[in-house]
Amino acid sequence: MNNIGQISARLAGTTDVIVIGAGHAGLAASFLLTQNSVSHVVFERGEVANAWRERSWDSLKLLTPNWQTQLPGYRYAGDDPNGFMGMAELIALFENYAEQSNAPIQTQTTVTSVRKDGDNYRVTTNRGEWLTNAVIIASGACNTPTVPAIASDVPDHIEQLTPYDYRSAAHLQPGGVLVVGASATGMQFADELAGAGREVTIAVGEHVRMPRRYRGKDILDWMECCGILGERYDEVEDLSRGRRLPSSQLVGSNDKPILDLNSLSDQGVRISGRLMGINGDVAQFSGSLRNVCSLADLKMKRLLATIDETIGDDTDVPAAETFAATRIDESPQLVRKLDGKSIRTIIWATGFRPDYSWLDVPVLDRKGHIQHDGGVVTSPGLYVLGLPLMRTRKSSFIFGIGDDARHVSDHLINYLQTQTRSNSHGVYQNDCSQQRYRRSA
Ligand SMILES: Cc1cc2nc3c(=O)[nH]c(=O)nc-3n(C[C@H](O)[C@H](O)[C@H](O)COP(=O)(O)OP(=O)(O)OC[C@H]3O[C@@H](n4cnc5c(N)ncnc54)[C@H](O)[C@@H]3O)c2cc1C
Repeated sequence: MNNIGQISARLAGTTDVIVIGAGHAGLAASFLLTQNSVSHVVFERGEVANAWRERSWDSLKLLTPNWQTQLPGYRYAGDDPNGFMGMAELIALFENYAEQSNAPIQTQTTVTSVRKDGDNYRVTTNRGEWLTNAVIIASGACNTPTVPAIASDVPDHIEQLTPYDYRSAAHLQPGGVLVVGASATGMQFADELAGAGREVTIAVGEHVRMPRRYRGKDILDWMECCGILGERYDEVEDLSRGRRLPSSQLVGSNDKPILDLNSLSDQGVRISGRLMGINGDVAQFSGSLRNVCSLADLKMKRLLATIDETIGDDTDVPAAETFAATRIDESPQLVRKLDGKSIRTIIWATGFRPDYSWLDVPVLDRKGHIQHDGGVVTSPGLYVLGLPLMRTRKSSFIFGIGDDARHVSDHLINYLQTQTRSNSHGVYQNDCSQQRYRRSA
């Protein structure tokens, strides 16, 4: 047995590319690799669309309109382009896409380690070890809810949940709820819980306010028309801040023109500043609420002005609506007792982060973010998809994956070709020739 044979015998398999994750990003990458005849395998620790199966609360709908549910080779063709998809429909769509594109997915296969092996990558899973020339990390940007350290100071009689534990109001202990965080997730919870008759307080930090609909169109339609969603990562002034921006205060429903702090106040939700600390059974809130809200109001005005500018004097478009400034109490309460009645439960809607605990290649910065240039990771042959503002402002949306996956797969194919030319004695050689890879138009 020669060297390659001995190594292969110990391996579960070899392939040109391993894709980690069968969410929309992994499926899109697989579709394009298949189109270009690149041999690959997709490892998925659960089932296709696993994240949507695991993390969804009962009422969750996409906050992007149906027409924006697009993937390479797939366009929404249903009769409700401006509606919002529920989870059952979305999961069925992704399953169908995977089946139609014959994606070579190994489900129930968890990647436990990726490490460099010469010019190649050794990928360990719960079902064996593989050697590959390149890896696409499509394992998601929202694997773990981010919970601030002060959560450990919360007294035991208070129930604590993350968005991934939440199902519906009926599943919570009886009593009031403190929702920490006023981005898409926190706003949706506060709205739902108030609607279910709960006493709700929301702790508000930096947030992005915008109406669902404006001048006859969905706000995301306008943001696409104006080129805002298409703004490139190398054109953004402060990229690292852009990548950390909270999600917009949106909900997947056309029933309300806007879900904002005013509409929550109208439902009786108490608006507090950012949660700063827990001292015994007292929660302390920041006094900067007014400033934070003024800034969000100002940024919304700027966004709407950009849209107005794009519309110009087009008389076919409805006139501009106005939105009242965020109403804040003259002297908002800075402390609240965690009394087990008016606050019985805390939901930490404080964001999400990726999990790279299995990645044994030194490509993370000191904050744990993957270092990449538009999806091309600093270690040759390693790629990433699905991160916020990865190439454009829509990179983390289903809608944005097509362009990003095309860029990454084109770069990867070039990489495989270069590697083949320069590597005549590699441990594992890919079967990668100019003839083999057809470039899609
Ligand atoms: C609450 C919420 C609502 C959102 N709403 C919208 C929306 O309305 N519209 C929109 O466009 N975007 C939305 N997003 C953003 C984004 O589209 C989703 O986060 C989307 O799931 C990201 O897709 P992905 O394929 O990059 O990652 P994921 O869908 O997270 O897929 C990653 C896959 O990798 C698998 N995986 C992870 N680690 C491993 C491992 N070690 N081994 C094997 N498999 C692994 C996971 O099981 C998962 O299936 C939302 C995000 C969140 C959190």
